[in-house]
Amino acid sequence: MCPKNSLQDLGIGQTDRRRIVIIGGGFAGLRLAGGLQKSNYQIVLLDRKNHHTFQHLLYQVATAELEAGAIAYPLRKVLKNHPDYHFRMVRVERIDPARNSVVTRYGDLRYDYLVIATGAETHFFGMDSVARHALPMKTIAEALDIKNRMLKNLEDALLTPDADERRTLATVVIAGGGPAGVETAGAFADFKRFVLPRDYPDLDPNLFKIYLIELLPRLLAQMSEEASESAETYLKNMGVEVFTETRIQNYDGHTVKTDKTEFPARLLLWTGGISGAFIDGLGEGLVDKKGRIAADRFCRVNGLENIYALGDVVHMATENHPEGHPQLAAVAVQQGEYLAGHFLDIEKGRKSKPFRYTDRGMMANIGRKKGIIELENGRNYKGFIPWISWLAVHLFFLAGFGNKLKTFATWAWIYTSRDMATPIILEKQDD
Ligand SMILES: Cc1cc2nc3c(=O)[nH]c(=O)nc-3n(C[C@H](O)[C@H](O)[C@H](O)COP(=O)(O)OP(=O)(O)OC[C@H]3O[C@@H](n4cnc5c(N)ncnc54)[C@H](O)[C@@H]3O)c2cc1C
Repeated sequence: MCPKNSLQDLGIGQTDRRRIVIIGGGFAGLRLAGGLQKSNYQIVLLDRKNHHTFQHLLYQVATAELEAGAIAYPLRKVLKNHPDYHFRMVRVERIDPARNSVVTRYGDLRYDYLVIATGAETHFFGMDSVARHALPMKTIAEALDIKNRMLKNLEDALLTPDADERRTLATVVIAGGGPAGVETAGAFADFKRFVLPRDYPDLDPNLFKIYLIELLPRLLAQMSEEASESAETYLKNMGVEVFTETRIQNYDGHTVKTDKTEFPARLLLWTGGISGAFIDGLGEGLVDKKGRIAADRFCRVNGLENIYALGDVVHMATENHPEGHPQLAAVAVQQGEYLAGHFLDIEKGRKSKPFRYTDRGMMANIGRKKGIIELENGRNYKGFIPWISWLAVHLFFLAGFGNKLKTFATWAWIYTSRDMATPIILEKQDD
């Protein structure tokens, strides 16, 4: 219900256009909005942040390679040329399908069509101690926390007289051997090789340990065994210690306890799990155990005519993906494009075809000049060409021309100087 004195429809005037409300300006929401540029709908985008985040490059912010602003894009600028586009920075708390409204602390907003594109949230599998002390990497603010902690730990390591504490401060544990964990481990290994000896000459580089811990039997489990082996070999050669089939059980901020061994470390970076960021109110039985909302092949939430779900938050079972699609940007982008087409079909009175995911393969950047690409036909490539291709693809998909330019210039500089672009601790200091 609307709080007292709240603005009618969050201050957005009703026009004669039908209103599409999109919750979430991530990969899916952004692509959907972009596809509606020439449509006749009123488009309202709601997000708790005022920017889109290019999550693939969060690890480069966390490892002091890229400026945070280079991977963000302001959501107010999304549909600059659409006459009836509105953005509100607000968290949607509940959906009220009976009243065709979403509920926020500033008031309710009515919709003709609602699209839930809220992505996923970090999931700690009920481990309270890990949730309290580990650092997740899902937002820019979290990536900056990781960078600040890593750099501050190194400064503290130089100031402590206690040798064990120095080692603990200089150790990084990464939980999760998916693309985010693997790429972060590679970036830390490059940091250790190129930056540490130059910027921290008083610190023994051997103290800087990088542990990568994965629960499953292999890294990059969504790719083939060959790709997993390549990633593991690359990382081991770069000095990363990889532990597969290892379950993290507890972390008190000083020691990571697993079912096999313990790792004294002041930084545990968590990329170990996500669950769908569903919003309350849709009714019983629509959310699966991974927090994803069940939808049909038209992205329509089961049983609800005018509510759709996209990207990481949707569970759409198909012949090729009976358990739902992988939670990847490619799926989110294709679903966003698809739904834009579906809304244009509705406008023109046409019938839509069901959504079909086109798998174009996967890629990972393990560090300087080391990339892995797996094409949709299962073919694998590794080394310099996949690395360059990874850089090109990520540059292409990064939102905003200014961001592309900044990122390209930073990468060129990092590559030639073998340095970090942003080794600055940006947090409030006690003294
Ligand atoms: C570190 C990292 C690395 C990754 N690397 C890759 C990769 O290499 N390749 C790949 O394909 N995928 C990668 N992914 C996964 C990819 O980023 C996701 O699949 C993709 O972001 C999903 O898009 P989405 O639009 O569903 O959600 P998101 O992009 O997460 O966007 C969701 C949006 O919804 C907003 N939101 C959530 N709840 C609310 C609410 N209640 N009210 C208002 N707004 C809300 C959020 O603020 C956010 O802006 C990576 C993810 C991470 C975290």
